Amino acid sequence: MLQILTPTIWICFAIYAIWYFTLAKHPHPITTNEAKILWKLHKQTTHCKAKKWWTIKQKNNLIGFKCQCGYQYIQKRPIKAKTPTNMTYSYYKPLEKLHTPYK
Ligand SMILES: [Zn+2]
Repeated sequence: MLQILTPTIWICFAIYAIWYFTLAKHPHPITTNEAKILWKLHKQTTHCKAKKWWTIKQKNNLIGFKCQCGYQYIQKRPIKAKTPTNMTYSYYKPLEKLHTPYK
């Protein structure tokens, strides 16, 4: 019995781990400006004639919007997503030197 149960549990665990690291998503907060831009993109791509939209909030964080036509958008992000790295200024230093006037 244990010879059948152990591989089954390991297979279930492996499937869960693959799902968690690749497909599992959670709502990600966005700014009001980003929501406005996304709503305008929705209107342009779907030729929506709506004049109103509402924000969707979760725990005081803006996570999406709902259009007057019924369309609903929620920003989702994989749980194990890499955080964006900050650009270092060392890359821009040569360019800054070119544009800096000599004193
Ligand atoms: Zn719409």
